[in-house]
Amino acid sequence: MAAVPRLFRSSSSAPSFSLIRRSLSSVAAAQSPKPHQSNASSTIPAGRNVQWVFLGCPGVGKGTYASRLSDLLGVPHIATGDLVREELSSSGPLSKELVEIVNQGKLVSDEIIINLLSKRLEMGEVNGESGFILDGFPRTVRQAEILDEVTDIDLVVNLKLPESVLVEKCLGRRICGQCGKNFNVATINVKGENGNPDITMAPLPPPPQCASKLITRSDDTEAIIKERLHVYDEKSQPVEGFYRDQGKLLEFNLPGGIPESWPKLLEALNLDDNEVKQYATA
Ligand code: ADP
Repeated sequence: MAAVPRLFRSSSSAPSFSLIRRSLSSVAAAQSPKPHQSNASSTIPAGRNVQWVFLGCPGVGKGTYASRLSDLLGVPHIATGDLVREELSSSGPLSKELVEIVNQGKLVSDEIIINLLSKRLEMGEVNGESGFILDGFPRTVRQAEILDEVTDIDLVVNLKLPESVLVEKCLGRRICGQCGKNFNVATINVKGENGNPDITMAPLPPPPQCASKLITRSDDTEAIIKERLHVYDEKSQPVEGFYRDQGKLLEFNLPGGIPESWPKLLEALNLDDNEVKQYATA
């Protein structure tokens, strides 16, 4: 851990990314006890666990689907938004700066985010993690280039929903202050435009033990959501092109809520829920 602050203290305008390089390559090289080797699944590399990225606008559901897939595939789900929120709720030196950035709907600097990700990867390395599903990283082309320099990404899943649905979903988002699970109180019924089908999503209510502990993210207000969507268009959409050019981008239009979307996503990923579950318990 001590290496992380040292890395950035010694850096000038161009920080060294040796730590993230070391962290990411050792995560990639770590021997998985049970690497999935399905010959049916071209999205899963042979001999090691998956290294995937989830892209998509705020509120699209990256966290929900990335977390389900991480359970299914036995790899860590690493969400840089969670790392930022953990840091800002601590009384660490960065917390004041981060609150301001996040509550304006802006992006945290590449340097800070890479520092937080490096620490998270180091911790995973110590705990013997292998593979990952990244959610919310990379969010700028510079972050994507850095990631590219340090490890191989197998697949990039780009989740999509119309903007009106994204705003409603963010406004309805609730988090259990105790267990950290995400829920949604919004009932979404949006007419399809330009020949696209209507989108209906039932609320995702919390279980009784979480119902009294729900909190709303401070950046889930209409004005901040709109700013985050604007920042996504400007800074993060080019990341889609970066991976499209590499032939790694899987575009996935969510057809509705979890019951409609999950089986279709598995199909698009060439994953068989039962087959992977059997593998995971073998
Ligand atoms: P969203 O719902 O907008 O996708 P996240 O939970 O992923 O939100 O991120 C919350 C906030 O954390 C972002 O608005 C941004 O300020 C910061 N953040 C998260 N990941 C990154 C990143 N890769 N680069 C810069 N800032 C980030």
